[in-house]
Amino acid sequence: MKLLVVEDEIQLADALSEILRRNMYSVDTVYDGIQGLDNALTGVYNCIVLDIMLPGMNGLDVLRNLRAEKISTPVLLLTARSEIDDKINGLDCGADDYLTKPFVTGELLARIRALTRRKGEVRDDNRFEFNGVLLHKNTCSISCGENDVKLSLKEYQIMELLIANPRQILTKERIIEKIWGYESDVDYNNIEVYISFLRKKLSIISAPVQIKTARRMGYSIDSIEK
Ligand code: CA
Repeated sequence: MKLLVVEDEIQLADALSEILRRNMYSVDTVYDGIQGLDNALTGVYNCIVLDIMLPGMNGLDVLRNLRAEKISTPVLLLTARSEIDDKINGLDCGADDYLTKPFVTGELLARIRALTRRKGEVRDDNRFEFNGVLLHKNTCSISCGENDVKLSLKEYQIMELLIANPRQILTKERIIEKIWGYESDVDYNNIEVYISFLRKKLSIISAPVQIKTARRMGYSIDSIEK
């Protein structure tokens, strides 16, 4: 899951991003509205945490522009003020939820979980499953039957992306965009290294699934035929 945090109070922005990363999200952090809109327009995020009072362009204008461009990424507005007007304005502009500062971390995380849960889908948000292989967010691990093994954060994120899109080819570009960010300079070789670690770990837990390579394209997860 990839999040964008747009907040000009640098300490708050960085603390928030750090908390989100510890909760297994990959996070891009920007400190003004123009950069925020620029990032948001890429459409690669699962949720955007957007402050209202921002330099460059305020959060409500960022939101209006985003919705005008038909980008429907869920947006959680942050506001320092608790005035009813701001909330109504925000929701009118296309926000999905709002949180008044100061807020407690638990509430922020719960709201992000609610906003990123796919519509109509009821599932344990902390668990992904494919063909008997379970991916556990809480413990950052993968298991099959009695066997389990820990994953690094990047391994976890790549595995989550694969399992969320079973049997579909994910290009290396898309994996980089989703996990490292739009402007990252991560090399394709890095992905190959992570995939090889993941293959080893799948074999350690005797998982009946494999990560297939689609030559010159990317990877997909599939069951192993018996
Ligand atoms: Ca602000």
